[in-house]
Amino acid sequence: MRLYNTLTKSKQEFKPLNKGKVSIYTCGPTVYDYIHIGNLRSFVTADILRRYLEYSGYEVRHIKNITDVGHLTQDDIAQADTGEDKIAKKALAEKKTPEEIAKFYTEAFHRDEDEMNILRAHYFPKATVHIPQMIKIIKTLVKYGNAYEKNGNVFFDVTSFKDYGKLSGNTLDNLKVGALLEEHTDKKHPWDFALWLKADPKHLLQWDSSWSRGYPGWHIECSAMSMEYLGNTMDIHTGGEDNIFPHHEAEIAQSECATGKKFVNFWVHTRHLLVEGEKMSKSKGNFYTPQDITRKGFDPMHLRLLYLSSHYRKNLDFSWKAMEQAKANYKRIAEWVGKLKNTINQKTEPVNPDAEKDYSFKEQLIAPFESAMDDDLNTSLALAQLFQVITITNILLSDKAVGYKKAKEILEAFEKMNKVFGLKFPEKETEIPKVVKKLANERLAARKNKNFKKADELRKEIEKREYQIEDADGSYKIKKL
Ligand SMILES: [Zn+2]
Repeated sequence: MRLYNTLTKSKQEFKPLNKGKVSIYTCGPTVYDYIHIGNLRSFVTADILRRYLEYSGYEVRHIKNITDVGHLTQDDIAQADTGEDKIAKKALAEKKTPEEIAKFYTEAFHRDEDEMNILRAHYFPKATVHIPQMIKIIKTLVKYGNAYEKNGNVFFDVTSFKDYGKLSGNTLDNLKVGALLEEHTDKKHPWDFALWLKADPKHLLQWDSSWSRGYPGWHIECSAMSMEYLGNTMDIHTGGEDNIFPHHEAEIAQSECATGKKFVNFWVHTRHLLVEGEKMSKSKGNFYTPQDITRKGFDPMHLRLLYLSSHYRKNLDFSWKAMEQAKANYKRIAEWVGKLKNTINQKTEPVNPDAEKDYSFKEQLIAPFESAMDDDLNTSLALAQLFQVITITNILLSDKAVGYKKAKEILEAFEKMNKVFGLKFPEKETEIPKVVKKLANERLAARKNKNFKKADELRKEIEKREYQIEDADGSYKIKKL
C-alpha cells in the first residue's frame, strides 16, 4: 500500500516497524462540546485506514486520546497556549464540574462514532490521568536544555531543535509573528510553546509540579499518551490538516528531543471539510454536528458514504444537496444488496448457465478495489468502480442472466470490501417466496373456517420451507427461520 506522508510530502510504500503489526495514534476530541462533521471526517479517515490495514492482514493497535483538560482545542489556530480552559469555562456556565462536562461529551463522542460505525480505538487515554507522564517528559526536556522555566511556566525552546518546521514547512526562518500568536512575557522566542503553565488559583483543573501548581500545555498530552501506549516511535499518526501546525510540529519537537528517536514514520492528515465552499464556523451558521444531520432526516450512513465518495486529501464540500445525493447512492447500494439476497434466497437459476460462466464479478470487484485502496486509500475511485458493477449486475439480475450461485459470489465479494467501507444496512426481512405466501393464505382461510387440522398441516408445510408463521389480529406474520 502506498500512503501519502505529510512529512516527506510524497506517497510512500507503507512498511510497518514490526512485521505484521501497525501502531496508529489519532488526536481525539476535546470534550467540552459535541464534535462537528469536520472532526468526524478525519475520524472516518483513520477508521478506513485501520480497516484497510486489517483487511490487508495487519494486526493494528489504535490509540485515540480524550483531551479532558481543555485549555486548548483543535479549533485553535494560534500558538494556542493562552490558558483559557474551555472545559472549565463550560463547567462554570453550566454549573457542573469539569469532570461532569468531560464525561457528558466523551459519552456523546462515543455515541457519534458508534453511529458512524467507526471501530472503537483499542484504548482512549484521558489527558487528566497522564499528568505524571507529561511531567516526566518536560523534566527530561529541561535537563537536556530543550526547555526552560520562568516564573513557574515551562516553555519548549524551538531554537534548540534544528528540525523544527520539518512537518509543516514553518521553519524558524519562515515564521512570522502574526496576529494569531499569543504573546507570553516569559517566552524567549515568540514561537516557543508552553509545556507547563502556572495556574491562577481560580483555575479549576490544576496539579502539583516542581515548577508550580499548574497544568500542561496541549501538545505535550499527545506526546505523553502516544509514547505511553505505542512506544517512542510509532507507525502512523493521524489528524486533521489544521493539526499540522502548531500541534503536530510541536509533538515532533518535544518527542524527538526527549527520546533522541524518530517520533512518527507516517503522518496522515485529512483535508478540511468546507460547507458550500466556506470554512465551517459557528458565527456563519454553517457549523454542523452529527445531531444536525439526523435532525434533517439523514442517516449517519449517508454521511459516511459522503465522506467515502471524496478522497481524504481533497477538500470535501458539504451541502444538503450533496447529502441528498449520498442518500440516493446509499439506497442504490442497499437495493442492490437486497436483490442479490433475494436471488440467493429464492435459489433463482440463471436462464443460461453457460453464459453465466463468462461473468467473473469477484475479480471485477476485488482487484480494482484493492488497487484503488492501495493507492493512498482512494475510496472515491473504489466506490465509482462499485457503482459500475452495480449498474451491470442490476440488469443481469433482472434478466435472470445470473443465478443464485453467481449472486452469492458477488455478495460475498461486496461484503469483504464493505468490511473496509464500513457501511451498515438495516436487516430487512427478505421477500417471502410466493409459494409460502400462498400456503399462508390457505392457512388463514382454514383457520377462519375453523378447520384447525388443515391449518396445522399447512403450518408444517410452511415450516418445511424454513419459514415461521404467527397469527396476528385476524392476519399473520411470516418470518424466516
Ligand atoms: Zn494531538
